[in-house]
Amino acid sequence: MVLPYRILERKRAGLRLTEEEIRAVANGAADGTWSEGQVGAFLMAAAIRGLDPAETEALTRAMLESGERWELSREIPHLIDKHSTGGVGDKVSLIFGPLVASCGLPVVMLAGRGLGHTSGTIDKLEAIPGMDLRLDRPRCLDLLRRCGLAIGLATEGIAPADRRLYAIRDVTATVDSLPLITGSILSKKLATGAAAVVFDVKTGNGAFLTTPEGASDLARMLVETSKALGTAASALITDMSRPLGRWVGHTSEVMESLACLEGNGPADLLEVTLALAEEVSALVGHPLTRAELDAALADGRARRRFDEWAVLQGADPAWLAEPSFPLAPAEHPLRATGSGKLQSVDTRQIGLLMVEAGGGRPHPGATIDFGVSLRVDARVGQEVGEGNELARLYLRTPNEPLAARFEACFTVGGGPAEPPPLIAGRVG
Ligand code: URA
Repeated sequence: MVLPYRILERKRAGLRLTEEEIRAVANGAADGTWSEGQVGAFLMAAAIRGLDPAETEALTRAMLESGERWELSREIPHLIDKHSTGGVGDKVSLIFGPLVASCGLPVVMLAGRGLGHTSGTIDKLEAIPGMDLRLDRPRCLDLLRRCGLAIGLATEGIAPADRRLYAIRDVTATVDSLPLITGSILSKKLATGAAAVVFDVKTGNGAFLTTPEGASDLARMLVETSKALGTAASALITDMSRPLGRWVGHTSEVMESLACLEGNGPADLLEVTLALAEEVSALVGHPLTRAELDAALADGRARRRFDEWAVLQGADPAWLAEPSFPLAPAEHPLRATGSGKLQSVDTRQIGLLMVEAGGGRPHPGATIDFGVSLRVDARVGQEVGEGNELARLYLRTPNEPLAARFEACFTVGGGPAEPPPLIAGRVG
C-alpha cells in the first residue's frame, strides 16, 4: 500500500507520481479511505505543480475504472458521442443527436445539468412534458437499438471518484486545473464506451476558458488522453463570445432546436452542429457530408428522429405534434443606448443574469422557470442606431432594474467591430 502522506509529499515537491500512486488517490477518493483533507491537499498540489500527460492519463483511467463502464460499442458499432465544455445558448446536443442518428450513425450522450452561468442539456430536455432522462446500461442499449439515440443523465455508478474529487475541487479553488478538468470530463464521458467522441471546446467571454490558448490546451489534453485510453477523438474550438443561436432559455432553446431540425435554424448554430457531425463521423470511418446532413434536415428525417427518440424517453406525443412556446409574459425590449456597431456582448454576464431571473439554477435543488428567455437579435459587428432593439427579454414578472442590467451586456460604439471566427481551431 502506498501511504497518502508519501504521495502528497512527492507531489508537493513537484515530482512525477507513478501510476500506482495516482490510482491510490482515485481509489482513496472514491471509497472514502482518503480524508477530505488528504484529497484537498492532493488537488491543491496537482493544481499548482501540474500533472504531466502520463499522470493525467493515469488519473483519468483510475477515475474511469472507479465506476461502471458500459462498453456499448461492443454491441453498437460506430457509436458516437459529443461533449461541450458549456456555453450560453448552446443547444447543439439537441440537434446533433437526432441529426446524426437520422443519417445512420448511433449517438449516445450522457449529459449534465446547468453549471455556473451555463445551462445544461438535461435541464433543457426536461422542459418537454414527460421526458425521463434517467439512463442505465440496459435502457441505453434498448434506445440505441430502437432509434440509434440515447441522451440522459449518468447513473450514480459512473465515476464515483469524480463525484468526490469534484465536490472537493469546488471548495478548494482547484476547479480550473486543466489536468483535473480532463480527468473529470473523461471519467464520465468515456464510461459509455463510444467508439469516437468529438469535443466542442468553447472559447470567448462566455466560456469557462476565455482565451484561445486555454481552450487549445484543454482541447489537446482531452483529445490526447481520450486516444491514450483507446477512444478516437478530436476537438473543435468554437466561439462563445456571444450566445449561440438566437435564444437563451429552456423551452425557447428546445423550440429553436426543433426549428433547426426542420432546416430553419440560425446560421451559427447550424454551422457548429454540422462541423461537429462531419468531424466525428469521419473518426468512425463513415464520414457524413454536408449534403447528406443538409438533406436529413430538409426532408424531415432529423426532426422525425427527434420525435421517435423523445417518445421512447417518455415525451408527450401530443406536445411533440404541436409544441407550445410558453415564454414568460413580461417582455422587455433591450435597446441600444447609442449608435455605431455592436462591439461586444458580455455573454458570461447574460448567463449569470438568466440564473438570477429564474431561468437557471442558483443552487442544486432550485427549480428552473423554463419560460424565462432572452432573444438576441443583434450580432457583433452589426450597425445599430440609438434606440434600436438589440434583444428582447421575457421575465415572469416585470423587472426594469434587471432588464437594465441585461441591456448593459450589449456594448455599442463607434469603433470597428468584427465577430471572432465561429470555429477558431481544430485539434485532431
Ligand atoms: N465538467 C466536468 O464534468 N468537470 C469539470 O471539471 C469541468 C466541467
